[in-house]
Amino acid sequence: MKSFLIMKFGGTSVGNAQRMKNVAKLITNETPKIVVLSAMSGTTNSLVEIAEYLYKKNHDTANELIFQLENKYRNVCNELFSTNEYKNLALETISNHFDDMRKFIIDVFTTLEEKSILAKGEILSTTLFYYYLLENNFDSVLLSALNFMRIDKSDEPDFYYIKENLQREINLYPDKNLFITQGYICRNAFGEIDNLKRGGSDFSASLIGAALRSNEIEIWTDIDGFHNNDPRFVQKTHSISELSFDEAAELAYFGAKILHPSTVLPAKAANIPVRLKNTMNPKAAGTLITNNSLNTDEIKAVAAKDGIVAIKIKSGRMLLAYGFLRKIFETFERFQTPIDMVTTSEIAVSLTIDNDQYLEKIVEELRQYGTVAVDKNQTIICVVGNFAGNKTGMALKVFEALRNIPIRMISYGGSENNISILIDSQEKIRSLQALNEHLF
Ligand code: ADP
Ligand code: ASP
Ligand code: MG
Repeated sequence: MKSFLIMKFGGTSVGNAQRMKNVAKLITNETPKIVVLSAMSGTTNSLVEIAEYLYKKNHDTANELIFQLENKYRNVCNELFSTNEYKNLALETISNHFDDMRKFIIDVFTTLEEKSILAKGEILSTTLFYYYLLENNFDSVLLSALNFMRIDKSDEPDFYYIKENLQREINLYPDKNLFITQGYICRNAFGEIDNLKRGGSDFSASLIGAALRSNEIEIWTDIDGFHNNDPRFVQKTHSISELSFDEAAELAYFGAKILHPSTVLPAKAANIPVRLKNTMNPKAAGTLITNNSLNTDEIKAVAAKDGIVAIKIKSGRMLLAYGFLRKIFETFERFQTPIDMVTTSEIAVSLTIDNDQYLEKIVEELRQYGTVAVDKNQTIICVVGNFAGNKTGMALKVFEALRNIPIRMISYGGSENNISILIDSQEKIRSLQALNEHLF
């Protein structure tokens, strides 16, 4: 079996005709590769909006948005192609997909139709890019991710299915070295079109890399790798040259948008390095994520995750009792709600969740164990670095920086590479900025 390099290009990297042409320049060498593309930037948001109007039966607005998006794609075609042959092929594809979308204006609209609409972004970007490659004499194959990418009944990737079917697809083309496919989209356990959730193209790339045991997974985006803080809220951030899988996973899970939180798992399990690169500045080194932890003394990075709900259960019965925490945790398990942070005292326990779908039911059940207080609009700040148990002064550094911020919860010692701090979301930007000034 050939060894493939996986190259995933995100929305901005394929965001207009010129950027697609730039991506083509990055994939010209002979190395066998699988190129995974996101939808062009803005497209998935537009498709989500169209679906919302279709749900609401606001057909006029949906129709208008479909028209606008189709026009945008037609304009991209005019810029991307230099021959009528490929331009016409691409325009025909565009018409087919947008006409298909218009069918949902009269038909019933359920999650099934919604997911089929959401899949169109990646299908369009890969098809246009593939035609562009053909026009420019690249010898490539367009693989439909719907033929191999699959999730099971719990919405988890069905790794063996993915591996077998992807191998089978690739084996059909023994002489080809360049494959283009869609990120994000998949089929579910019922064979219906589905997706890996927003930002999921990174996850696709990692699953594909692990399935093919590739040498490296490259995630090409619009910034030169993982930064030490969120560049959307903080100035003067810098790129981090190396991270361990665990460090990257914590940062991605706690809000660093550059990587879909599940991306690290398949790569770590198969021990495949993940490299983050900047399409706008390909020479920049970016970030290399591997199994080697660099155990430096520094604090490496900070991230923040919004939309957190804190729940406190207070009870005298907890004093010197055992089994209390089990009952609390079982409540969350019954409602399939993951817990992120936990802190306990002898008479109370506080914990956080980010999925509030069953919040009311959970709170109702918890009331039998004590008084329950709920705080919404909370943010977890995650600080990643070397917080080994034998080190001194690390917590001081972090809390010195946050001395003017009211703190709701602290979790230290859960892992050696992270401190999590819960604050009110209103304090997020101030906290990120204060940490940037004091830690780096
Ligand atoms: P793509 O469309 O290529 O997947 P995303 O928008 O999903 O790109 O992710 C890249 C963006 O993530 C950057 O433009 C940046 O604004 C944001 N971001 C948030 N936190 C970080 C971080 N710690 N390091 C780098 N980028 C970050
Ligand atoms: N296009 C999808 C999204 O915008 C997936 C991705 O870009 O990773 O969420
Ligand atoms: Mg992304």
